[in-house]
Amino acid sequence: MHDCLIIGGGVIGLSVAWELSRHGLSCAVLDQQAFGQESSWAGAGMLPPGNPAKAETCEERLRSHSHVLWPEWTAALREASGIDNGFRRDSAIEVRFGGEPGELDDEIRRWHSTGVACQPLTAAEARGLEPALGPGITSAYLLPEHGQVRNPRHVKALQAACAGAGVTLLPGTPVWEIVRQGGRVTRVETPAGGFSAGQYVVASGAWSERLLAPLGNAPWVRPLRGQMVLLSQLPCPLGRVINLGHRYLVPRGDGRVLVGSTEEDVGFDRRNTAEGVYGLLELARQVVPAMAQGTLERTWAGLRPRSIDGQPYLGRWPGLENLIVATGHHRAGLQLSPITAVLVGELVRGQEPRVDLHGFRPDRVGSD
Ligand SMILES: Cc1cc2nc3c(=O)[nH]c(=O)nc-3n(C[C@H](O)[C@H](O)[C@H](O)COP(=O)(O)OP(=O)(O)OC[C@H]3O[C@@H](n4cnc5c(N)ncnc54)[C@H](O)[C@@H]3O)c2cc1C
Repeated sequence: MHDCLIIGGGVIGLSVAWELSRHGLSCAVLDQQAFGQESSWAGAGMLPPGNPAKAETCEERLRSHSHVLWPEWTAALREASGIDNGFRRDSAIEVRFGGEPGELDDEIRRWHSTGVACQPLTAAEARGLEPALGPGITSAYLLPEHGQVRNPRHVKALQAACAGAGVTLLPGTPVWEIVRQGGRVTRVETPAGGFSAGQYVVASGAWSERLLAPLGNAPWVRPLRGQMVLLSQLPCPLGRVINLGHRYLVPRGDGRVLVGSTEEDVGFDRRNTAEGVYGLLELARQVVPAMAQGTLERTWAGLRPRSIDGQPYLGRWPGLENLIVATGHHRAGLQLSPITAVLVGELVRGQEPRVDLHGFRPDRVGSD
């Protein structure tokens, strides 16, 4: 019997398995399909910065701890897997076109008050850094410590590292039911039979509510579709990430530029729509007009695991001593995956988590 069984082999489940195996625990990861093919593959891999010394909110604490972990996490993963996940800190510009001057001042103040380097930019300065930016910039700032990771490579690296560490990887194994007896989970049921372990971790992304519902009081987790467009152009007109609120252009450094993303409440529908793709192409043309000449390589959509308040559910399931929930990471599951794995690892090993998990309780019904 394994020490821990993890349901879901996206970036969260695989990160947890790898972290536990690094501490000598035996794990199995079950996924209903191939590993890392859902939200974790579809995401953009952007990693916003944070500073644990100045973080005030529970979200800032989680983000900033993950920010600190990423370089070591990447190096250890490369050592274990031989795969370069493409992690780099290459800065980002937040920009607005045709808005009110000073529109971003509150955001700039917030970054400063949380101890994160943030440099206000005039339109000329923004264009000095990124000469291909389009006309009509009304406000902008630079985040020098912003990073990114090639998320499909990252999940491949996690999978290889887990395999190398002896983690039992069971793709194509959907968990149908979590079986409890009194205050403990005793096994999970799958088409391949029952599996038992000392502890269980639910990391099933947008499907987590469905899986947990029969236990009662399941956390609110719903899919939020995000469509993406991949353009390519050499030489690439863009050198760093450009953010416009929740939409962005992410240059991968090899001529490819991700353009994302939509936010659509359409259930488990992973289609691209004409309207979604059209809107993203328009965005690309507005932000970097030269991208209109780029090649349209590919489109896809993914299902973000949205929570009730945008924060993940992290912690022990009330009333079941050996069940831990790590889900609902919404727009931030890649950036938060290292700290999530470390915190779940601490819970599994019976240690006090280094970040207060009160604001992430699985049984909360709204924001704290
Ligand atoms: C378009 C888009 C852009 C994004 N951009 C970013 C970004 O820039 N930065 C960032 O940090 N985050 C980003 N995200 C969010 C991020 O991708 C997610 O928060 C993260 O991938 C969630 O990881 P996960 O492992 O919880 O979920 P998933 O990757 O969805 O994995 C869940 C896994 O559980 C499996 N599963 C479900 N039910 C069962 C079951 N019953 N039995 C067995 N297996 C099961 C599924 O098959 C799946 O493989 C983006 C997401 C999208 C869609």
